[in-house]
Amino acid sequence: MNRYDVIVIGGGPAGSASAIFLSHFGYKVALLDQATFPRDKVCGEFISPAADVILERLGVLSAIEALSPVRLSGVAISSYEKAGFAVEYPPLPGTARPMTSLSLPRFVFDRLLMQRVEQAGVTVKEGHKVTDFIVEEGKIAGVRGRDDSKTPFEFRASVVVDAGGRNCVSLRRFDLKKKSRSSSKIALAAHWTTPHPLKKYCTMHISHPGYTGIAPTGENQVNVVLVVDKKSLQGENDLHDFYVRTVLQNPLRRNLLDKAQVAEKVRSVDSLAFSVRPPQIGGLVLVGDASGFIDPFTGEGIYLSLRSAQIAGEVIDASFKKNDFSREALAVYEHARKKEFNKKFLLSKIFQRLIYNPPLCNRVIQILADHPDQAATLVGVIGDYIPAEKVVSLRFLGRLLAKAWGTDSRILSGKEPDASPYL
Ligand SMILES: Cc1cc2nc3c(=O)[nH]c(=O)nc-3n(C[C@H](O)[C@H](O)[C@H](O)COP(=O)(O)OP(=O)(O)OC[C@H]3O[C@@H](n4cnc5c(N)ncnc54)[C@H](O)[C@@H]3O)c2cc1C
Repeated sequence: MNRYDVIVIGGGPAGSASAIFLSHFGYKVALLDQATFPRDKVCGEFISPAADVILERLGVLSAIEALSPVRLSGVAISSYEKAGFAVEYPPLPGTARPMTSLSLPRFVFDRLLMQRVEQAGVTVKEGHKVTDFIVEEGKIAGVRGRDDSKTPFEFRASVVVDAGGRNCVSLRRFDLKKKSRSSSKIALAAHWTTPHPLKKYCTMHISHPGYTGIAPTGENQVNVVLVVDKKSLQGENDLHDFYVRTVLQNPLRRNLLDKAQVAEKVRSVDSLAFSVRPPQIGGLVLVGDASGFIDPFTGEGIYLSLRSAQIAGEVIDASFKKNDFSREALAVYEHARKKEFNKKFLLSKIFQRLIYNPPLCNRVIQILADHPDQAATLVGVIGDYIPAEKVVSLRFLGRLLAKAWGTDSRILSGKEPDASPYL
């Protein structure tokens, strides 16, 4: 009988972390994924510095370190080839501890997590696609679907964690996705090989017709993600050709990728940010991208997934202790998640507005170039270890915008900003 305490749908960072945490609490957990691991995933592939602590709690950090992964020591941002800055991650507040972000292919990272899931004693079923929920007495009582050989299956549990990512089954089944008003984005990604090692930075180039995130993921390997509006693809017949051409049309990227070669066919994924209504049914918890997706510019989806899984694990444990899996009991998770991340989501939205407004973007990036302390604080917030309140405050934003629109700005005085050393 396929009866468990908890069923987790999806073996990405959110699902793997949920399964491990719940297994640590002593629950009998099954994780189902439609894919067979290792599997790939379009992603910028850098992981916020704050994730290290959680990866250690999950028991996977040592296996990652054993591969001597790239560790990025800072972030560089350029705006429309007009302004730019590069800044190291500031130390952890109150300490002198230097901070870095992991940068390794998802193909490797997700497989290591899944191996850890199995070591933790979780029953793992790959090639198992969940197509629907079993609903009994008004609450979720399990899942059903088909495996790769088309054999139907049913698994039952007190709680189902849906960590199936942006196209997860809950969003369709319960119509939870809120319509987005923004236009539709697409992300194109490929690894490149480079004869010269790149500086260990995550480099974001904002330009027309979109932005790129570039980060080394190995000694001679670099991951290049391009995010554009789908309208830019009109009239394009060859996605790969469009990707390479668009990446290299920016002189800064041409310089950075000098003599580098694309090592694989470009992969794509819709990259539209969306938010989600909480499920109105007991026995169901949404974790990771399943609970909403913010634009990847600020690159924290993996940290968010891991941290949400940790919060969800604690709330589910409390539900088991009270034997209460009602909507009200599980909603504690959504409240806690919202409380912790709301300011970060707001920051992401502010960035969205900013990056598609070239004049304002140039001004703000130039001001940050002129004020390395503020740039470092921002980078620490993006890295999830400096509280978002530090920059999502009326004082910080007010000062920044006042400078951006103020009379002392060199840009407003008609002069182009000086090229920063980074440019
Ligand atoms: C262009 C782009 C760049 C990004 N860059 C970064 C970055 O640099 N750093 C960062 O931290 N984040 C980044 N992100 C975000 C990050 O990729 C996601 O937030 C993260 O992968 C979410 O993890 P997850 O476990 O929720 O979902 P996923 O990683 O998508 O995993 C979901 C899993 O569920 C399985 N599944 C789905 N449906 C079913 C089903 N019905 N039955 C069984 N299994 C199912 C899938 O096979 C998959 O294995 C980026 C995202 C995009 C689109």
